[in-house]
Amino acid sequence: MKLPGEIRYVDFHTHSAGGSADTIAVRNLMAGNDVPEDFPANTLFSAGIHPWQLTDDNPGQLQTELLLTAAHPHVVMIGEAGFDRLRGAQGEVQYSAFLFQAHIAEEMGKPMVIHCVKGWDELRRARREVKPGRPWVIHGFRGSSSLAASLAGEGFWFSLGAKGLTAEVLESVSHEKLLLETDDSGQQIAEVYHHFEAAAGYDEQSAERLVRNNFNSLLNFSL
Ligand SMILES: [Zn+2]
Repeated sequence: MKLPGEIRYVDFHTHSAGGSADTIAVRNLMAGNDVPEDFPANTLFSAGIHPWQLTDDNPGQLQTELLLTAAHPHVVMIGEAGFDRLRGAQGEVQYSAFLFQAHIAEEMGKPMVIHCVKGWDELRRARREVKPGRPWVIHGFRGSSSLAASLAGEGFWFSLGAKGLTAEVLESVSHEKLLLETDDSGQQIAEVYHHFEAAAGYDEQSAERLVRNNFNSLLNFSL
């Protein structure tokens, strides 16, 4: 699959339903949300069980709902899934819901979109256990540059929004495993690219080419 020539931006993770002709957007669906009947051109989807959705009683139901949504051909990634020490059911419930999704992602050959708030030990434990063959992308990363460097060393990819785009973090991660996102910020993805260009010292064209190539290689498109 080749991206059309007029595409400039990739918004790796958004909760916005609006489409823009110059952007490929990966819109996030939580388990239980179906892929809509109609969606703008250039929209792809991720689908996952968000840790905030989990209670002690609902994992079975959410897993069934996710399997139904994930089978849609426009769902190209599994997630956002992950660990949140501040919200949602904790401990084993989060861990086993994450492993379930990691195994689906492996079986379907799809990358994972990861939400992680303070749950880095669990995330690393899961990675050691699953040994994924497809990329795991930590979205909305806002941690320190030393945490970024150690996670990058373990093979994680990163998707950064305007607030996470610091020169220190950008010096600590591989730019070939980097994506940009708006998440629920309400910003335009073009603004996030401009932050990236300023923080990393790229001109517009190089930044656009870099992220597009990264997205292609993430999804294993033929380059
Ligand atoms: Zn999100």
